[in-house]
Amino acid sequence: MAQPKLRPKKKFGRVEGCERCGRKRGIVRRYGLHLCRQCFREVAEEIGFKKYS
Ligand SMILES: [Zn+2]
Repeated sequence: MAQPKLRPKKKFGRVEGCERCGRKRGIVRRYGLHLCRQCFREVAEEIGFKKYS
């Protein structure tokens, strides 16, 4: 994957874990998010995604 670095919409910087709680396990890198499954579930509802079950 040799793609030029594009600036993401959000401030990610060095994302090692969940950008919300910092957890490093169960990270969901879906939809451009870097959240643990718990936070993703909450945020997903706020954003409008269907419930992540
Ligand atoms: Zn989290």
